[in-house]
Amino acid sequence: MKNLLKKKVFIIPAVIILYIILVTNAPKLASVLAFGLGAVAIYYFYFKSSKFKSRNIVVKITTGIAIFFGMLFFGIRPMSSETHQSNDQKVAADKVNVEQQKKEKKLAEEEQTKKLEEEKAKKETEERAKVKAEENKKKAEEEALKAQQEEAKKASAESSTSSSSVQSNNSSAVAKQEQHTTNSGVMVWLSATGDDYHSIDHCGRMNPKKARQVTLEEAKRGYKPCSKCHPPQ
Ligand SMILES: [Zn+2]
Repeated sequence: MKNLLKKKVFIIPAVIILYIILVTNAPKLASVLAFGLGAVAIYYFYFKSSKFKSRNIVVKITTGIAIFFGMLFFGIRPMSSETHQSNDQKVAADKVNVEQQKKEKKLAEEEQTKKLEEEKAKKETEERAKVKAEENKKKAEEEALKAQQEEAKKASAESSTSSSSVQSNNSSAVAKQEQHTTNSGVMVWLSATGDDYHSIDHCGRMNPKKARQVTLEEAKRGYKPCSKCHPPQ
């Protein structure tokens, strides 16, 4: 009797500790342990213990019901807790997955927006450069035009002065030439009707009686040289 009590004192806490360890680490083993302990208890109370045998029927039934529900409680709870746990784990995993997916999506979106922004910035800078280049081109063209205009102005001014000088030169040259021609006596013939001047008074069908002699300079003002008699030009 003493020995048994001693055994009980050690065995019961050990079984409880074992059960707790098994519940957290191996729920199936905990269930097996609970059912096994229930069976052992039933065997002990109803087949071994003479003390229990001597108790009345109510105690026996109550003890049996207690053991039965204890078996159910301690045997099935770990299983359900396991499924619970796994469910919880599953849910947690799903949550993590969803969150990860969200994160990835967000990251992708951010990357895309970043890319878009970069492209936009690139385009903008390109456009700006284009506009600037165009402006520069326009400016250059304007400047070139301005310079050209100024040059033209200058040139026209110069030419007006030079042309006047040229004209004066020309007139003096003409005067000189006229003097020269009158001096050297280069004369040509004009017909009564034709547009040419001739070196002779009877070129072609022209009437020598109606032909008149003029200076070359005078003839050149209204007439062109004849192609047949080749007068001086
Ligand atoms: Zn002629």
